[in-house]
Amino acid sequence: MKVLVVNSGSSSIKYQMFDMTNEEVLAKGLVERIGLDGALIAHQPAGQDKYVLETAIPNHEIGIKLVVEALLDKDHGVINGMEEINAVGHRAVHGGVIAESVLITDTIKEEFKKLFNLAPLHNPPGLMGMNACEKLMPGIPQVAVFDTAFHQTMPPSAYTYALPKELCKKHKIRRYGFHGTSHKFVAQRAAKVAGVELDNSKIITCHLGNGASITAVKDGKSVDTSMGLTPLEGLVMGTRCGIIDPAIVPFLMDMENLTTDQVSTLMNKKSGVLGISGVSSDFRDLEAASAEGNRDAQLAIDVYVHYVKKLIGSYAAVLNGVDVLVFTAGLGENSWDIREKVCENMDYLGVKIDKEANKIRGQEKVVSASDSKVKVVVIPTNEELMIARDTKEVVEAIS
Ligand code: ADP
Repeated sequence: MKVLVVNSGSSSIKYQMFDMTNEEVLAKGLVERIGLDGALIAHQPAGQDKYVLETAIPNHEIGIKLVVEALLDKDHGVINGMEEINAVGHRAVHGGVIAESVLITDTIKEEFKKLFNLAPLHNPPGLMGMNACEKLMPGIPQVAVFDTAFHQTMPPSAYTYALPKELCKKHKIRRYGFHGTSHKFVAQRAAKVAGVELDNSKIITCHLGNGASITAVKDGKSVDTSMGLTPLEGLVMGTRCGIIDPAIVPFLMDMENLTTDQVSTLMNKKSGVLGISGVSSDFRDLEAASAEGNRDAQLAIDVYVHYVKKLIGSYAAVLNGVDVLVFTAGLGENSWDIREKVCENMDYLGVKIDKEANKIRGQEKVVSASDSKVKVVVIPTNEELMIARDTKEVVEAIS
């Protein structure tokens, strides 16, 4: 089975074409600057030269049309006809209480639309991608794989906010959690790499990218996660504040005369390590600035690490212990320094990192010492492969 995986953002479409017989990536690429000047498609067939075409791409439909043309092209294509695409898997960010990956139908699209206000940056372009694929690839099954689905196993005690219940019900306010596809993928891989049985395990997965979240995974199921109603809650992130005293919001709105949009932009785009340091949201810049003696950059790193440690400790409490601690995503996979700092002074928990083994980037590896009670592992995430696997499973179940 060949599966096309599509991840539609507001001005971009990322895609990968998989041959699921051996989970091989046949081609991958990126459509960029949709609706803007300088739009382009960059298409990378496996083992061949990259193909780049700059052309006007006014909307997602034209973007998907270019993807299909690139996949079919006689020079840089990887399939001979559209009928070779057996299914399309879409990354869908907010699926509300939908607990699994599903075939996209009109009813599912209606549900997805109802969640636009909870994920205004992600769900509308997601729907555009789904509609464009339906139109250009009629009859080919389309599957939605939600970032929220993995977390639907959380118990009410973990997903309920202490707000009046009528309001929570009316506005669907609860913890949903995000990055679920990544947490699920790395938890499954980590169990294999660490040699524990997923069905009988306590795993804490740290997805540390631009956006960051931590999940407590018990017996392969999410039982708590740090992101909430939206991806703003939890850890300090690149530009997002994560958890703060909620009273700061009305206070700042009063003091600075801010609208809801302005305060939301402030918390989502101007806070996090960027806000603390005034330098950058990128840890490579922060590490460089701190090495040059910039104290605010150092403070941003320290605060970040403090929050990650705090959450790991609280999830160890939720799980009543931990067998495996997993690091993934841009920072988790690449920054051995952050991994080392997070694991420092965690002997109370049985975490002992092997500082030499830990000096790796982007590699699947156990980095804890041989006498560490908790296995610490680095697992490069692969959300696209997880989406392709789920898509195959859904399509096979209906055919
Ligand atoms: P996104 O959430 O946008 O998918 P990524 O998972 O790609 O983000 O993570 C991006 C972040 O990873 C960067 O902002 C940077 O802080 C961090 N990062 C990536 N590579 C390195 C590296 N070699 N050293 C330190 N940090 C890195």
